[in-house]
Amino acid sequence: MRPEDVLCPTPAGLFSKAGDFHIDPTRPVPRALITHGHSDHARAGHGSVLATRETLRIMAVRYGEGFAGSTEAAALGETMRIGDAAVVFQPAGHVLGSAQIVVEAGGLRIVASGDYKRRADPTCLPFVPVPCDIFITEATFALPVFRHPEPKAEIGKLIASLAQFPERAHLVGAYSLGKAQRVIRMLRDAGYERPIYLHGSMEKLCRLYEEEGVALGPLASATVATGKKGDFAGAVVVCPPSEIAERWARRFPDPVACFASGWMRIRQRAKQAGVELPLVLSDHADWDELTATITELGPQEVWVTHGREEALVRWCDLKGIPARPLHMVGYEDEAE
Ligand SMILES: [Zn+2]
Repeated sequence: MRPEDVLCPTPAGLFSKAGDFHIDPTRPVPRALITHGHSDHARAGHGSVLATRETLRIMAVRYGEGFAGSTEAAALGETMRIGDAAVVFQPAGHVLGSAQIVVEAGGLRIVASGDYKRRADPTCLPFVPVPCDIFITEATFALPVFRHPEPKAEIGKLIASLAQFPERAHLVGAYSLGKAQRVIRMLRDAGYERPIYLHGSMEKLCRLYEEEGVALGPLASATVATGKKGDFAGAVVVCPPSEIAERWARRFPDPVACFASGWMRIRQRAKQAGVELPLVLSDHADWDELTATITELGPQEVWVTHGREEALVRWCDLKGIPARPLHMVGYEDEAE
């Protein structure tokens, strides 16, 4: 069987001819397999969706219960037959419920890893390396300049700033699925016990994480109309990144604008976003994780999806591993 019959890039996303399904389709399709709940991968309107139970729950929170014609939960590590393909979901270490999708047909195994990281994350299962013939990798941070620092040290910066500025509110911009909960959980692990305040758009997903066993400690709403400005002195408020420099932020006392993102590695980007305290915390693999993962898996070929494809393809070339960019569109860098 040719690799193109197992999986091949199409304008709607990766398509499996052998199994007659799409992975993370960007437009409505009859049968979608979905790696994780971020909005550029998980969209509403498909005929049927196969995803982990957690991803299905996340989609229901974001789009409502009727987000697909039908749904089916994929159990991690369990082989399912779909048409002429054997399919297995394995953890990707990206966000709660995130999975790589392993597709095998005609003796050829392809791993579509979706988004992934290799660093420890207390809010999701770690990435499981699956040896394969073809590894499909993201390339969000595929430049040697991207070397994410130790996550604990970044949270340590936030803890230090809280001690230094006890009268100021700390507004932490964080993507509402994954990053927000990871920041909160890491603050708890660092010994921070006070209530953490949430922007309204974070509340449902935080509750879902708690229901799935990720304890987040005392949480409170940051949208209480009756609250006085002074109530938030020294408080941590988690909100979407777009809010840290907006009108909404002015209700808090002398706010310290923080942003938890892999992009904070780029000083200019932090400056443009009006960020006073950049926290370099990413849910994507950095350059070293990407190259180490390819070395570990030893695939015969690498396909590179969204991000900075060229540098990673070049690195593979230098290592003698055939690689090609898939030029997939519709997958943003998200507010990572
Ligand atoms: Zn993602």
